[in-house]
Amino acid sequence: MDARDSAGAHRSVRLLLASANPGKLREYRELAAGFAIAAEGIPGFRDLPQFEESAPTFAENGAGKALHYSHFTEEIILADDSGLVVPALGGRPGARSARYAGPNATDAENIAKLLREMEGREGDARRAEFHCVAAIARKGRALAVVSDSARGILLKAPRGANGFGYDPVFFFPEMGRTFAELSSREKNLHSHRGKVFRKILDLLMARAPKAVF
Ligand code: IMP
Repeated sequence: MDARDSAGAHRSVRLLLASANPGKLREYRELAAGFAIAAEGIPGFRDLPQFEESAPTFAENGAGKALHYSHFTEEIILADDSGLVVPALGGRPGARSARYAGPNATDAENIAKLLREMEGREGDARRAEFHCVAAIARKGRALAVVSDSARGILLKAPRGANGFGYDPVFFFPEMGRTFAELSSREKNLHSHRGKVFRKILDLLMARAPKAVF
């Protein structure tokens, strides 16, 4: 994407997203819209040697993924690892959120497993947090690693049709709705991923054009 900064200089900024998750890709594209930044999936992502997200922490997976894919292009890679943390379940599903009910589990299967484990838990025991650790890297060098979270309460049944993953059972008290009942604009304003993306933007803007671009 081409843009002019406040001094009128020409600037092209492109972030390549290391993800095949359509929900995530859509959110990052929407988050980047309106800024002088284009966020796009890595071309040919599925044909590249895949990074195995087997580490127990979001940070290891997020940073590892960004560094890994940055070896295949000259451009800046943005990768995140995110998931749902339930303190009453010892932090599960955590870094295994995407595969909680099995290697090819659907969102509905993951939610069903989570709700079964939450049976009999009330009040504070239903607190949950979405966490996101995102990293940007270029040619094997990490440029930034940032993290943020969003706090909510797990409902006993899904509500809403927007978003992805665990959104339908994640009630966000500040808005009085689940993440799946928010518009994408509302979710991006409050979500772990939205907050992380704005931190990355701040860092990119502070460094541009000399250090990064
Ligand atoms: P990752 O691709 O390993 O980071 O997978 C993250 C998984 O965590 C997703 O597949 C979802 O199950 C869950 N997750 C992460 N962020 C969100 C979100 O914003 N809403 C709902 N679920 C999420």
